[in-house]
Amino acid sequence: MRIVALAGGIGGARFLRGLKEAVAPGDEITVIGNTGDDIHLYGLKVCPDLDTVMYTLGGGINEDQGWGRTDETWSIKAEMKEYGVGPEWFGLGDRDFATHLVRSQMLSAGYSLSQVTEALCVRWRPGVRLIPMSDDRVETHVRITDEAGPRVVHFQEYWVRLHAAVDAEAIIPVGADTAKPAPGVLEAIAAADVILLPPSNPVVSIGTILAVPGIRQAVSDASAPVVGLSPIIGGAPVRGMADKVLAAVGVETSAEAVARHYGSELLDGWLVDDSDAAAVAGVEAAGIRCRAVPLLMSDVPATAGMARAALALAAEVRA
Ligand code: GDP
Ligand code: CA
Repeated sequence: MRIVALAGGIGGARFLRGLKEAVAPGDEITVIGNTGDDIHLYGLKVCPDLDTVMYTLGGGINEDQGWGRTDETWSIKAEMKEYGVGPEWFGLGDRDFATHLVRSQMLSAGYSLSQVTEALCVRWRPGVRLIPMSDDRVETHVRITDEAGPRVVHFQEYWVRLHAAVDAEAIIPVGADTAKPAPGVLEAIAAADVILLPPSNPVVSIGTILAVPGIRQAVSDASAPVVGLSPIIGGAPVRGMADKVLAAVGVETSAEAVARHYGSELLDGWLVDDSDAAAVAGVEAAGIRCRAVPLLMSDVPATAGMARAALALAAEVRA
């Protein structure tokens, strides 16, 4: 079976770890990763979502944080601070820096981001094929109004520095309109037997991937069933601040509203948490097959159970 998953960072990576446990030997998983969170710092290209997937599946992730490397040290950051060079709010540890140095060195030598990602994965052996959504630069920006007046900030500044404390007025995936899907992306979607939308952020992770021209169409046109898992439980994000970016695109923070936001042209099946069982009828009324199952990724076995439920719903839709 060929499984394609569109994934952001922490939510996506944790789901994929369960999915790997749930599939049969010989099944192939292709992950199309969000690069809208990418940021250029100190002349280096940092790809937080790709790295979170790579480190999580490759056994190098800091489990408590959900991002960055295990046993990290912070000497470079401390030295930069002595020079008065920031940003102080973005955490890049010494071991993590090595990844960004290798990536940036290869990019300046002329390799594409997908080639670089493949090269980094030789070390990490994530057990999936990880492809960035695009080799072209796409950067999500957020329009806010604070003491400084109306302005636009990088997504990372909104999320990490401002903790999404001010309302997001608009989400702008800069560069997405002219970006091309990376080599292999459309082919993997067309050849898939199942397409999964993990519990990643529906706006700034999955939404950004779908904003690359051609990808949304390819997913809707695919012969494979498309099944998503709700990142919203009981009217709130499980972690993070997805409610802020959902509000910016006019979507209520509920499992049903996120399913309707994706829509029945895209989604064939949707899983909501047991506690949201009351939402099942509304989702089905929108033309999307829906089941309520436990959706908390409390550990790998529980997450594997979620992946099995998603694959079972896909099989049901296909039949
Ligand atoms: P990303 O969008 O994959 O980059 O990762 P984030 O860590 O920003 O989280 C994305 C979404 O995953 C958030 O909206 C969370 O609510 C959701 N999420 C995190 N943990 C869980 C979980 O255990 N279960 C479910 N259903 N969603 C989760
Ligand atoms: Ca992300």
